[in-house]
Amino acid sequence: MFRKDPFGRAWVLISPERGLVASDFGSVLPLPQRSPLSPGNERQTGPEIAAIRPSSTAPDSPEWRMRVIEHPSALVEPRPFRVEGDALFRQAASSGYQEVIVEHPDARMTLDSMPRSHLVDVLRLYRERLALLAAKPGIRHVQITRNVGRAAGALFEHPHAQVLAVPVGSRWVEEEVEAARSHAREHSRCLFCDVIERELAVRERVITHNEAFVAIAPFAAKTPFETWILPRDHDSAFTGVASNTLPLLAELLQTVVRALNDALDHPPYNLLVHTLPAAGDRTFHWHIEVLPRLTQQAGFDWGSGFYVNPTPPEDAARFLREALALREVQE
Ligand SMILES: [Zn+2]
Ligand SMILES: [Zn+2]
Repeated sequence: MFRKDPFGRAWVLISPERGLVASDFGSVLPLPQRSPLSPGNERQTGPEIAAIRPSSTAPDSPEWRMRVIEHPSALVEPRPFRVEGDALFRQAASSGYQEVIVEHPDARMTLDSMPRSHLVDVLRLYRERLALLAAKPGIRHVQITRNVGRAAGALFEHPHAQVLAVPVGSRWVEEEVEAARSHAREHSRCLFCDVIERELAVRERVITHNEAFVAIAPFAAKTPFETWILPRDHDSAFTGVASNTLPLLAELLQTVVRALNDALDHPPYNLLVHTLPAAGDRTFHWHIEVLPRLTQQAGFDWGSGFYVNPTPPEDAARFLREALALREVQE
């Protein structure tokens, strides 16, 4: 169930049924050909919600290019969101949507190794699922998460993403929205657009960029090699991204992941799409955060609420730029 923290903005999912068991559904099946997400194993997962497949093929049969399935251990389910309780103790049955997007039939495929055109189709499917779930009644927060590697909490080794849509706000996105609102009140400009402009002028923390997107190591990176990818044109939601810029996003994503893989030897990472449910809002600017899982959060961080990051973002950006330059020389 959802419980509202009376001392802050967080909603907590209290989920005893989840127990203490890690969600590593795929870890008992280490061989890629035995991945429960591979073609031929469709019955091992929940029924297909949507798929990119030839129209002559039936749902839950092989021959698909991408599939959308129910999350195997969903923490939320579609049902009305009814908050009970008083100002101190507010709670509601956990409601919302949780899906898994199987991005490629080949279990060994990765974000950086898949053909560019296939990744463009994956991004289009992200946009489609987010738009569809954002339109459901009462949804306040939608999110795409891509966990890679066991240390990053990946459900499967097979390339996949998770889609979440819930009737409560995300603490992190709301904090960013609040910062953007207060900046807009003071300067009548988008905070993110201003940061992008400054970063592109200074270049110190820019990792790479193209006509439509820029990848930076944020000024106050919370973790080593934290990387943000932002659209250079303002928009509040991923659902607003134009089809003709998706190839540019795919290009930048692959470049960033290759740089991290080269520089840090294929680190586990979390990729999060931070977005509002709908486009057209001036007070937020959607972006992707890539967070390599390199350090354990230590007691100081937990105890104080400060993040301790041993890698200055300027060093991280330079290191990643060098990795990309080296790759260019070798290719
Ligand atoms: Zn903006
Ligand atoms: Zn963010």
